Amino acid sequence: MHTKDFNVAIVGGGMCGLSCAIGLSRAGIDVRVFESAPKFEEIGAGVGLGPNALRALKGLGVLDVVLEKINEMKPNQRLFRFVPIAGEHELLLDINGCVNDRLMLCRPVFLDALAPLLDPGVTQFNKRAASIEPVASGRQRLNFADGTTYEADLIIGADGIKSMVRATVVDQGISPLGFANTHAYRGLVSIAALKAAGLKTDVKRPHNWVGMGQHLITFPIKDDTTLNIVAFNRPILNTISPELPQPWVEPVDQKELLDAFAGCGNDVNLMLQHMKRPSRWSIHTLYPPLESYVKGRVALVGDAAHGMLPHLGAGVGQGFEDVYTICCLLGHAGTTKATLDTALAVYNELRPPRANFVLQRSIQMGNVYDNFGPEGFTGKEIRERLKGMFEPVWNHDLESQVSAAIAEKLERAQN
Ligand SMILES: Cc1cc2nc3c(=O)[nH]c(=O)nc-3n(C[C@H](O)[C@H](O)[C@H](O)COP(=O)(O)OP(=O)(O)OC[C@H]3O[C@@H](n4cnc5c(N)ncnc54)[C@H](O)[C@@H]3O)c2cc1C
Repeated sequence: MHTKDFNVAIVGGGMCGLSCAIGLSRAGIDVRVFESAPKFEEIGAGVGLGPNALRALKGLGVLDVVLEKINEMKPNQRLFRFVPIAGEHELLLDINGCVNDRLMLCRPVFLDALAPLLDPGVTQFNKRAASIEPVASGRQRLNFADGTTYEADLIIGADGIKSMVRATVVDQGISPLGFANTHAYRGLVSIAALKAAGLKTDVKRPHNWVGMGQHLITFPIKDDTTLNIVAFNRPILNTISPELPQPWVEPVDQKELLDAFAGCGNDVNLMLQHMKRPSRWSIHTLYPPLESYVKGRVALVGDAAHGMLPHLGAGVGQGFEDVYTICCLLGHAGTTKATLDTALAVYNELRPPRANFVLQRSIQMGNVYDNFGPEGFTGKEIRERLKGMFEPVWNHDLESQVSAAIAEKLERAQN
């Protein structure tokens, strides 16, 4: 039942758009999702969620269905081992023993878990939003590629790093997307097949295989049967270049992958040889970060607001923090059409400093991971540089921050 006097249109039904729609619907808001794909879909790769991401999902009331879907009673505590990409992969750093929970899962499973929580009438598929224009009384009109339109009091752009909605929010006039001179080759491989082929490393622990201009991230998903592999190749270090033409994701010949990582150690070679049909991702980031995630009655969440480098495994976690925040603010008892702008102003005060900090840190982390070897950092230097990098990302107390902002800013302005 709709108990609020305003309606919201969400562009994009990825992990952030879908969770946002559930949160807003539960708060009694008339919400619609417009997704350009024919169904909720994600690439069949893994995603790691840190403790802050899990707390945001818990706050939204959707963590339990995700855990149920992946057959885990609770988040696990397996943390990364760092080893060199070359040689015998001897241990450089083990961050096990940290008390923070993490979850590693297959992306489509997340959408499969959440989709049944949303009334089917809320989402329209095959709907590509093409432009936004203001209409009377602060309302916004969404124009779709098929010529139809929809009007709402608020539009939320959850349409990913190549966001169309972002152009309405950004004043800079130029695209703030940059290419990180990095290609990521992704694939899923059977752990049993790797063991049978002689893999020595226990890949049931997540690993970061560091090198010079290259690193691999591996972690198990699907009840530890499948290894999620992302092999990052960055020939030019420490620079962000202009955005590349699309497509950014392409299937490539395995030879390209093997050539790019020639000279790596045995276990890395073995894993790459098992990636028979890798996809190559051109890794982009919003750079410089956006100063504002809101303009008028248009707001951004997720990668549309802060598409970042994947090196902290924190991108979607920041999206879930956005979603938790905007759902609390819009769903608050005092938020009505008349006070919507105040709620959006508070959202815009809280989110850009936090998510842009994580974005900047994701760039710094890539510069550590891709800098190991005789010409770069030693193991000791890597250990020193990694100290304290994750804690501010994981330990942020979002719930208290949002509660305080509601009491001090939202309620004061609404009274
Ligand atoms: C190699 C790699 C590894 C990563 N690993 C991690 C990790 O381990 N942990 C982590 O937290 N993050 C990770 N990330 C980042 C994470 O994938 C993103 O932050 C997350 O997918 C963003 O979700 P989103 O819902 O904002 O956007 P998306 O997932 O991009 O969803 C956007 C949706 O909008 C739809 N859409 C787009 N345009 C339109 C339009 N005009 N009209 C209608 N619909 C539209 C799309 O079809 C899509 O469904 C990684 C990223 C990469 C590239």
